Amino acid sequence: MKPTLYICREMPEELIAPLRELYEVEMWQSTSEAVPRDVLLQKIATANALWTVISDQINEELLEAASHLKIIVNMAVGYNNIDVEAAKARGIIVTNTPDVLTETTADLAFALLMATARDLIEAENALREGRWTSWEPLGFTGVDIYGSTLGIIGMGRIGEAVMRRAKGFDMKVLYHNRSRKQETEEMYGCQYAELPELLAQSDFVLILVPYSEETKGLIGAKELAQMKETAILINVARGGIVDEEALFQALHTKKIHAAGLDVFETEPVPLDHPLLTLPNVTVLPHIGSATVQTRLAMMKLNVQALQAWAKGEEPNNRVT
Ligand code: NAP
Repeated sequence: MKPTLYICREMPEELIAPLRELYEVEMWQSTSEAVPRDVLLQKIATANALWTVISDQINEELLEAASHLKIIVNMAVGYNNIDVEAAKARGIIVTNTPDVLTETTADLAFALLMATARDLIEAENALREGRWTSWEPLGFTGVDIYGSTLGIIGMGRIGEAVMRRAKGFDMKVLYHNRSRKQETEEMYGCQYAELPELLAQSDFVLILVPYSEETKGLIGAKELAQMKETAILINVARGGIVDEEALFQALHTKKIHAAGLDVFETEPVPLDHPLLTLPNVTVLPHIGSATVQTRLAMMKLNVQALQAWAKGEEPNNRVT
């Protein structure tokens, strides 16, 4: 008898087809709506394999109901939507999709940095709304990117890819990790800094750490107060790493200049969220890895992990 696979979001049939040879496949039939919790709870009771996306919260309650589950493949590099410790305790394999999205996410991080620095979205809106009435000496002005200082919190795969882009803009790069990366420092001339020093010296602070108990609320009122009044905060990692209420206050009272956010504590971010009322915030709907090539590459990694497990082989990119 084939093992059963439940797929939490509608995926392209050409990618699913080879899995049908190895699994009894069931799939939530929507690309845009998350599988409802009660449906997932019911499906998980019999599933041997589960294919998740970041909006699926795989917590203790769900794993408790998953008595036949052996493997979860997650279509993301971040896996904070899964209680990996609880999965590990039950011997459930969890896999993710690193590397294939590194350059694409770095592109987006840099694009958001540039859009925020030069207030591109507001400039376009002004043009479309007929507010471009004349060339103004100080009209539509932003801040310089080239030659400025970029502080990267989380110099991992994506952090390094952003740094390479920053070097092309003649930026000075500071970084903060739990561990120093001597080789990276020597190769690219970036400098390690403790968090307060990075915050105080950077013109752009870019967050690229994974979400964890340790990084939850890493940037709060105290840290925002350590930043320059002219500084810009960019978060493409995960919501919840930045305290959104503290960020609202810092932006509202001009303690920092602006923020660019691809991620939020609650996603989709509610339209009445206070941050959306501010003119100095550029917002995106969690699109870091969103190119056709990269999303397909992420799916393929998940498919390969599922194929390997079904054949008794070692799945790629295990996190447990
Ligand atoms: P990675 O290679 O694991 O890099 C993470 C870096 O963060 C590492 O250098 C790590 O260094 C550092 N770090 C971890 N915990 C830390 C802490 N408590 N304090 C300081 N530094 C810490 O991961 P990646 O592939 O670059 O991805 C980074 C994150 O980006 C993912 O986890 C994901 O949440 C997010 N992401 C978002 C999107 C999007 O669509 N917006 C797309 C892709 C990824 P040390 O271990 O030395 O501390």
